[in-house]
Amino acid sequence: MPELPEVETLRGDLEKEVVGRRIKTVEVSGMRAIRRHPNKKHFINKVQGQKIERVTRRGKYLLLSLGEDVLLIHLGMSGQLLKAAVKDPVAPHTHVTFTFTQGGQLRYLDPRTFGEMFVVSNEALLTEVPEVSELGFDPVVDVMSWDAFGARLRARKVKLKTLLMDQRFVAGIGNIYSDEILWAAGLRNDRSSESLSTQEVRRLYRAVLETLNDAIKHRGSSLSDQQYRDLYGVVGSYQSEHKVYAREGEACRRCRQPVMRSRWGQRSTFFCGACQV
Ligand SMILES: [Zn+2]
Repeated sequence: MPELPEVETLRGDLEKEVVGRRIKTVEVSGMRAIRRHPNKKHFINKVQGQKIERVTRRGKYLLLSLGEDVLLIHLGMSGQLLKAAVKDPVAPHTHVTFTFTQGGQLRYLDPRTFGEMFVVSNEALLTEVPEVSELGFDPVVDVMSWDAFGARLRARKVKLKTLLMDQRFVAGIGNIYSDEILWAAGLRNDRSSESLSTQEVRRLYRAVLETLNDAIKHRGSSLSDQQYRDLYGVVGSYQSEHKVYAREGEACRRCRQPVMRSRWGQRSTFFCGACQV
């Protein structure tokens, strides 16, 4: 699933490619991608003719400002946004196609259809979309001191990985980056959040910022399914920098002990049993 670094990479691409463009027409196949709207016409009427003024990000959500309204996009498990020319063949699983007055298209593909997009007014964004208004701090956009971060950690008594993946605590981190952050901090995923020393809080805080920013520099992670692509259809390169994620049995890059894997809810977590304490 795309996490903060992948969504931030797309945000930067969209800023370059679609800001200032006016949406001439929108084609929608099926209701799945726009399921919050009562029907296609309702969605189309809200976006057709609008100019994209700005592209921002909150956690894993992309926000395309359209004057009074905002178009929110969440990629779910396998959503892709791709820049295309009108003449380009239409790939399978293309759900929404925006054609711009100035030429060119933005296409939304999603094989597994967990992703979605919807339009709300700027006011409604704060009151009717709790998934966005209740997001915790965004490590790339918001400024928070490490001691404020520590106070929040200590106020909770949950396992570190659970807390990092809680979107209301910190926005944008999922299964991959929580494992990578905890390895960088040298902390175990099941350590309780209130048990950290001051030193460990600082290490964790630094690991959050450094891991995410490093992943953005590498334009995100594309796993073996290659489902994550940037706006130009190109895969990211951070997967080759992963220290633990999907490296079960391989040598830890810090202590050479084999990386371990264990069950975490419905998913897996990867860690070094020797140097993460
Ligand atoms: Zn290790």
